[in-house]
Amino acid sequence: MRVLLQNLTKKFPNRNKKAKEDVVAVNDFTFEIPDGKLVGLLGPSGCGKSTTLNLICGLQKPTSGKIYFGEDDVTNLPPENRGVGLVFQNYALYPHLTVKQNILFPLQNLRGKAKLSKEVMLRKAYDIAKLVQIDELMDRKPSELSGGQQQRVAIARALVKMPRVLLLDEPLSNLDARLRLQTREEIKRIQGETGITTVFVTHDQEEAMSISDLIVVMKDGVVQQIGAPQDVYDSPVNLFVAKFLGTPPISVFKGTVKDGNLYVGSDLIGKTDMATDISKDVFVGIRPEGFVLKDGGALCCKLERVEVMGRDISVVSTHEASVNPTIRSIISSDNKVDFGQAEVRFDLKPNKVFVFDADTEERIACTIE
Ligand code: ADP
Ligand code: MG
Repeated sequence: MRVLLQNLTKKFPNRNKKAKEDVVAVNDFTFEIPDGKLVGLLGPSGCGKSTTLNLICGLQKPTSGKIYFGEDDVTNLPPENRGVGLVFQNYALYPHLTVKQNILFPLQNLRGKAKLSKEVMLRKAYDIAKLVQIDELMDRKPSELSGGQQQRVAIARALVKMPRVLLLDEPLSNLDARLRLQTREEIKRIQGETGITTVFVTHDQEEAMSISDLIVVMKDGVVQQIGAPQDVYDSPVNLFVAKFLGTPPISVFKGTVKDGNLYVGSDLIGKTDMATDISKDVFVGIRPEGFVLKDGGALCCKLERVEVMGRDISVVSTHEASVNPTIRSIISSDNKVDFGQAEVRFDLKPNKVFVFDADTEERIACTIE
């Protein structure tokens, strides 16, 4: 099911009574979620992710804008008539019901023509339990399950009616690191097997990047960029997106462009194809994998320390033009770094260096040599 969000806006009255302006939780959001895809909605806390999800499922009404499921305008449809499955961070299972009863619950509520026989309901419940691999646990109560198992039950309950759209709001946040990794792979598998159009909300960029077909990066209610995870990582439209994606994060420097040359502080790090009469302040972002250790390299940093990570080493250094206290570069552990030296020099991989306007923080499209 294709989902179309058209100029979706949601305003809330400001909780601070003295402030006259409304809070714009979602601001003019237009996006078509392709049929059968998993879309990751990503951004810092408070950027409007949950509000967007609540608008799609109908728990909240937009201030303006429209929502379509396929050709159907569902903007004014109550949630129960939209055919959505919902999973939240806190699993919200019925504590007094068994796993089986929890999963059956949405089916038992079907009325009229949609009403199912007991046998059909049971078969559907067991099929879905098998899909999420909890069919051995059907007679337990939620309190007798681990967090990961409880979340699987919540997913099964959301899926049992075969919703047109599956909406997941930070579904992994309550799980420990290992289980989070495992469950996100499970969600990807289940989504692939069912082919249900899915929106997955998270503040964790790695989580969103790893399982999404498309990611939507939001900030203050405004969509910043939409694209395949790798494309957004490789070509961020602005400094916010560049900083939000990637671990370790991108290193940001104050720089200048002069006569077509790109400087970080006083280090000349490359030549751009910008007109030679342009002279301006910029931010230069360098991905951690963009640094190449090299004697006589263009960027001269002060070595702080070297952290061994096994496959790679992380070189921690400083530079007078760095915006962050330290710069982190990831290089292969085949490199030998002299821990005692005061200086490290790097050459830079041009496709890992981004230039941003110092005022607008928008990316400046240019090639760097
Ligand atoms: P996220 O899920 O990305 O953390 P939310 O969608 O929950 O963000 O919130 C977006 C913004 O809208 C926040 O500033 C939040 O305080 C505000 N907000 C959310 N729900 C309400 C509400 N019911 N009333 C007033 N403000 C709200
Ligand atoms: Mg939220």
